[in-house]
Amino acid sequence: MTTDQKVRGSSPFERASCIDVSFLVEFDGNDPSPVRSGVTKVVVAGLMLLVSSGCSAGSERSLPTDSASTVPESTTTSENVPAVPNTWESVYLGIWRDFRAAQNEGDYPLNVTLSPTVDVASAEESVAAYKDAMRLWLATLDGVPATRVEWSIMTEKDHAWWLERVTANEGRERALQWDESTNTFGHCHLTSTSFCGYTSVFPAAPEDFAVYQYSVIGSEYSSRPNPETVNHEATHFYQLGLVSRFPDDTPCWFVEGQATLYGVALHVDPAVDQRSSTMRRDRYVDIVRQFQPNAGKHSVTDWVDVLQRMYQSEPSCGETQQYFKYAVGLFAWEHLYDAFGPAAMHSLLLDLRDGATFETAIETVLGVSTTDLEVRLADYLVSVFD
Ligand SMILES: [Zn+2]
Repeated sequence: MTTDQKVRGSSPFERASCIDVSFLVEFDGNDPSPVRSGVTKVVVAGLMLLVSSGCSAGSERSLPTDSASTVPESTTTSENVPAVPNTWESVYLGIWRDFRAAQNEGDYPLNVTLSPTVDVASAEESVAAYKDAMRLWLATLDGVPATRVEWSIMTEKDHAWWLERVTANEGRERALQWDESTNTFGHCHLTSTSFCGYTSVFPAAPEDFAVYQYSVIGSEYSSRPNPETVNHEATHFYQLGLVSRFPDDTPCWFVEGQATLYGVALHVDPAVDQRSSTMRRDRYVDIVRQFQPNAGKHSVTDWVDVLQRMYQSEPSCGETQQYFKYAVGLFAWEHLYDAFGPAAMHSLLLDLRDGATFETAIETVLGVSTTDLEVRLADYLVSVFD
């Protein structure tokens, strides 16, 4: 059993909160092949985090709050907008439209604590990027109180500091994600150039919980925050701050799928650089094909079968197929966004927050049964891989 499995336990919420954080985010370079942390190559590009306010131990430092915006100006012109956007381009353009419109929102409550060794400028840059990303979710919340995010940022040298932070935040028994013997941190293999993190929600109660983010910015990490990583993780701040525990009948592609969609869509605006946007998305097409070599020949029935094998106990949701659910989830969410829109998807999360099962929330908010939804998603997957 891996460290991650121990941490996650069997609850979908725990899986959701801990899984991704560390992972994805950047396949970095040209190799999108699934890489288990601890194994070899690691990837690690993006991620960061925050920590708690009011936790100012002597050695901790606080960040300035007025970081400059990192949101690029829109350079959309009539020439670089796709002439006739296809479905996914329309979805991504819509996400960018909402993202830019949300930049007049205030700051999401991120309580940041830095370890003694982390570079302040790097941490500050990451926090600024997250604040920009969270404005989209502040706009989405539309007045619903934001759950506090307690964000601890450290380097690969700070295991003892991390242990203190987790113990103070969640209790010593939750300090399982950083294994010193293998130097794994969530899904990352830590090095001096790592940039990764993981998220956890605690306690898993309907009220009075916080989102805990633990991030490592390697002591020699020198790149800028990765937009895909930032927006992926920011989506989790929103999701997990709203729904501390997803119902047991939630398919495993759901939580990661939304985060992956927003991470990929906001990595680069297709209206600015359509080729790069397409390439970024194609990484996930390739990942699905790694696990479904015959994807191009799959019928609707075949895809329904794939989707019906994407619940927590299934191999498709397990450690060895980690990336598969992110990739399938991305495409599932493209359809959800296209067919129902972001407002409906927010309503769906509100229903889940209020205790609905996944099946009930889908029927209530989207007006379809989960069985019918799987057929619709399968139909879209056929179009993606055709
Ligand atoms: Zn994730």
